[in-house]
Amino acid sequence: MQHLYKRYGKDKQAVVNDFHLDIKDKEFLVFVGPSGCGKSTTLRMIAGLEDISEGEVYIGEQLVNHLPPKDRDIAMVFQNYALYPNMSVYENIAFGLRLRKQPRHEIDLAVRRAARVLEIEPYLNRKPKELSGGQRQRVALGRAIVREPSVFLMDEPLSNLDAKLRVQMRMELIKLHKTLGATFIYVTHDQIEAMTMADRIVVMKDGVIQQIDTPETVYTSP
Ligand code: ADP
Ligand code: ADP
Repeated sequence: MQHLYKRYGKDKQAVVNDFHLDIKDKEFLVFVGPSGCGKSTTLRMIAGLEDISEGEVYIGEQLVNHLPPKDRDIAMVFQNYALYPNMSVYENIAFGLRLRKQPRHEIDLAVRRAARVLEIEPYLNRKPKELSGGQRQRVALGRAIVREPSVFLMDEPLSNLDAKLRVQMRMELIKLHKTLGATFIYVTHDQIEAMTMADRIVVMKDGVIQQIDTPETVYTSP
């Protein structure tokens, strides 16, 4: 991100104010900060779901400012899972690949591989409403994984889960990050999540980056 700005409205205060940040390949980077500080907006600009007011976003060597979301080497996982209620788990995971018109047998292999990694193979024929919260979150992760992106964007993906499941999913995400060998950019307002998962933490306040450092340094400095 190079001198990235977001203003909602011409004369409005920037909610993302001069972000200059080099995210490393395969890094687990966590954005923390109070509600409304601009975390989601930042992710959405990286994903292409929000126009950039000023500045540049590169993914690898590629300037992506004007690239549609589906052509970016990323996948996003949302807090509310965003599953299609009338589709089976299988179809939910396969959906993005079908849009890309990938051959059927390739889609089938990719869906089954993702389901195996996430341990949701037994539920492929169920509808989302027949699943627990944790299983639904895994399906949402499955939809991201099958795209095989280099970068995963996750916006508070665990915040709808109960405390016990959150701890379990936290560990699973750390494992998944290693297994996939991808870059994770993760937004949370939960300090424990940030502390346990991050390689580096970006601390935000009122649209400004206050600190970028390892969890040890962020949470021990005065
Ligand atoms: P966070 O994810 O850190 O909670 P957001 O990125 O969602 O914060 O929001 C940052 C700021 O931008 C907030 O003040 C919010 O009210 C404002 N904002 C977000 N989306 C819009 C929008 N569509 N129109 C106007 N203001 C918005
Ligand atoms: P068809 O028109 O041939 O029924 P589908 O799109 O239903 O095509 O299925 C294509 C492939 O996807 C099949 O080979 C099947 O293995 C797999 N598939 C589709 N739906 C499911 C499902 N709910 N559970 C497991 N596999 C499925």
